[in-house]
Amino acid sequence: AGEHAAKLTDLVGDRAGEWDRTGVLPVDLLRGLGADGLLCAEVPIEHGGLGWSSTDNGEFTAHTGSLCGSLRSVQTSQGMAAWAVQRLGEPAQQAEYLRRLTGGELAAVAFSEPHAGSDLAAMSTTIRQDGDSVVVDGHKVWITAASYADLVVVFGRYSEGGGAAVVVPVDTAGVRVERVPEPLGCRAAGHSSVVLDSVRVPSSAVLGAGAGVGLLVASALAYGRKSVAWGCVGILRACRDAAARHAATREQFGKALAEHQLVARHLANLVTGEHVATLLCEHASRAWDSGSPDSVISTLLAKNECARLAAEGSAAAVQVLASAGARDGHVVARAYRDAKLMEIIEGSTEMCQVLLAEHAVRALG
Ligand code: FAD
Repeated sequence: AGEHAAKLTDLVGDRAGEWDRTGVLPVDLLRGLGADGLLCAEVPIEHGGLGWSSTDNGEFTAHTGSLCGSLRSVQTSQGMAAWAVQRLGEPAQQAEYLRRLTGGELAAVAFSEPHAGSDLAAMSTTIRQDGDSVVVDGHKVWITAASYADLVVVFGRYSEGGGAAVVVPVDTAGVRVERVPEPLGCRAAGHSSVVLDSVRVPSSAVLGAGAGVGLLVASALAYGRKSVAWGCVGILRACRDAAARHAATREQFGKALAEHQLVARHLANLVTGEHVATLLCEHASRAWDSGSPDSVISTLLAKNECARLAAEGSAAAVQVLASAGARDGHVVARAYRDAKLMEIIEGSTEMCQVLLAEHAVRALG
């Protein structure tokens, strides 16, 4: 993974700020990383993946997150799509789709709708069985990476009962993808709405048919939460690095900023936040790798706390750099905007807190 991280550093170079300003990632870069298996590195080797552990992939995700939040977002979506196929797909579906997802095709995952955000049980997209095909109708919003995607994994209600996910190629008749204009952060992540109007795909594209909507969503979100948490570790690393460099070199009142105690406190908090976030992610990934039942709660805990630490840490980094970081495209300015979004996605802070509180009560027995 270390070798791939060094290569990624070279590939991104100093372009992340420009991608943020223009709102576009180079598609050839995405396809290249995808074809190297690096956008979903936990896919098993027999399916064309790299077969990395959650911890190794997490470290790599953190590295991506330290370089470019938009690229990390695309990586999270691809990994979540692959995980949905692994968890919900039959062996033949796994064989087909995982090879495509590790062969350069790009994917997005679509749960959210205009009237179903935190409350995903309210989703109204329909997946209707019709002979050997299914017909999909719905409106999905804020779908990360959809503007780059070849395939969208769409979640909805299944006509035969329960819910289902369906793998929809974006070039199918009836699919319309529209970019979200000027998002607050992760601006080059290709967030888009996806409108599905009588979209017909073969039944072989349906995953997890008949399972409860909540269960289907929870399986895919688990990967997303873990990936976002590691991405927040990356945000904290980038912020700690930029803040420490600036504080060590910029002088005010005749000494380095780092020698002013109130500034030094920001650096201490950044180091602590980065360390705590890393430990939480390592714990969650170890639980994931060992198949421990603790995996669900430790992933939730990591996502919730790492997003909070990244939002807090990035605000502190902007404070340390002050005017030097207060411009569009600067690493700490990007981190500040990107980190705020981490408190909203894959289960907002409030939704994570609701689930953690339920866990506390359940633990009483
Ligand atoms: P709402 O659900 O309307 O919530 C508004 C506020 O109320 C939030 O603070 C929320 O925490 C709070 N709230 C709601 N219900 C409760 C409650 N019961 N108790 C306490 N507080 C509550 N969706 C996808 O399907 N795929 C994607 O790839 C994707 N990527 C995204 C990327 C970005 C950058 C963003 C901003 C969104 C993305 N989304 C995606 C959508 C995202 O999942 C939703 O925005 C999120 O679930 C919150 O839903 P909402 O925005 O409708 O807010």
